[in-house]
Amino acid sequence: MECVRKTNQNTIDRYDLWVNSSGTKFDLHFRLLFFSLDIVIPDKQKRTVEIIRRLKRAYPDAHCALNHSTPFELLVATILSAQCTDERVNIVTATLFRKYRGPQDFADVSQEELEKDIHSTGFFRNKAKNIKAASQRLLEVYEGKIPEKMEEILTLGGVARKTANVVLGNAFGIASGVVVDTHVGRLSQRLGLTTNENAEKIEADLTKLVPKKHWIMFPHWMIFHGRQVCIARKPKCEICVLANICPSRKLFAPEL
Ligand code: SF4
Repeated sequence: MECVRKTNQNTIDRYDLWVNSSGTKFDLHFRLLFFSLDIVIPDKQKRTVEIIRRLKRAYPDAHCALNHSTPFELLVATILSAQCTDERVNIVTATLFRKYRGPQDFADVSQEELEKDIHSTGFFRNKAKNIKAASQRLLEVYEGKIPEKMEEILTLGGVARKTANVVLGNAFGIASGVVVDTHVGRLSQRLGLTTNENAEKIEADLTKLVPKKHWIMFPHWMIFHGRQVCIARKPKCEICVLANICPSRKLFAPEL
């Protein structure tokens, strides 16, 4: 793998480093200097692979944080998670999934009652409407079961690509795309993997860079990192495992 050391805006020195399955090995000269240099791996694809390798090692227990026991429950939890924390959604669904056992119960309940049940997740009117619409369509067209194709899930009320990717990936193990939430979007920009703001465009950029076998786990690693280290307001670059390959480190922690 080739790395580039940026000594200033105009000068670039090249070094080689080798990566093997047991970790990253540097030549001695390079290793001594490693932590004091601003290192950029210029090939985005190679940098993405290195980011994945480090995040996978840092967060071996990364997983979907929304509690669910069926694909349908995951669909409902994901709809509720828009503009809401996963912790709050899990509090609400702990009661909700005891009261409503499946799409039929959600289709039968009145809009007003469902709104009350999910009120604390915010945007409760739209969310209640979408959950009821999705439940009704599942009953009418799919015998109450979540379809396993992206184009079919997208026909459920209020279900966009992010929700569809969450359900297909985490409930069925189908790599349909890369989930882009607020953490994945922010980190992808900071790490220089995209310059886009729009979630679908960011996803398109990531699907070109992230090997398909990592499409399901990549967002979990990024989300764990975004919550624990690369925090929105004040990223903790000083403890970040990606610090020496992150183009934003100089912006947030010029002293490092
Ligand atoms: S070095 Fe800083 S900005 Fe870059 S990924 Fe790590 S915490 Fe985020």
